[in-house]
Amino acid sequence: MDPTHPADRGNTLVLTCEHATNRVPSRYAALFAGADDVLASHRGWDPGALEAAQALGAELRRPVLAFPFTRLLVEANRERHSAHLWSAYTIDLPDEDKERILSRWWLPHRAEAGAMMRQAIAHRRRAVHVAVHSFTGVLDGKVRNADIGLLYDPSRSGERTFCDRWRQLLAIHAPDLRVRRNYPYRGVADGLPTSLRKQLRDEDYVGIELELNQATLADPERQGRMFAALAGTLREMLG
Ligand SMILES: [Zn+2]
Repeated sequence: MDPTHPADRGNTLVLTCEHATNRVPSRYAALFAGADDVLASHRGWDPGALEAAQALGAELRRPVLAFPFTRLLVEANRERHSAHLWSAYTIDLPDEDKERILSRWWLPHRAEAGAMMRQAIAHRRRAVHVAVHSFTGVLDGKVRNADIGLLYDPSRSGERTFCDRWRQLLAIHAPDLRVRRNYPYRGVADGLPTSLRKQLRDEDYVGIELELNQATLADPERQGRMFAALAGTLREMLG
């Protein structure tokens, strides 16, 4: 066995959830007065995503790194200089509040994710990052025709191979689940894996955004089957 050869290395799963909750820190609650409906909607968080991440974590015995507040406070899945880092509720905050939010919550989440990858790599393992998200089943009147989206960078062979195989296994284990690649978004768009790809090599890091349809998550029976299929196939993938 040559431990430097990717094929001989084990995989370490790192689960993150950037849009886990719609909570607001009490200090900033006044900014969101009257915004309960927006906070409750998919604009405020990814309903069901944390539950999915925790179900995978429980099955595969891995922790879940979850961002503790709503994406409308600050967007944990965007780069620091993104035009979408701040929402309409926080864009006009004074710079000192923005710096505080970044240094207290945004930066630690991103830094901790990177540290977990580097720790795995330091142990001569390949870091397999699954960032769990959910998407609304209908957007602007259009029904989205997938239960699961696997988002990755097609130019990274490790990610391409991993997602091709994962999709094949899901088709065997749960043929009724509709799995699409780089849908409903592209894996190379701004996001935590895109940021980590700039720091970590193809052979060391596989960054996947797992997008789950909220309509499927809302149906207890289909949700249960989806969680079981994802955990079973991911276990097989990780070896
Ligand atoms: Zn999300």
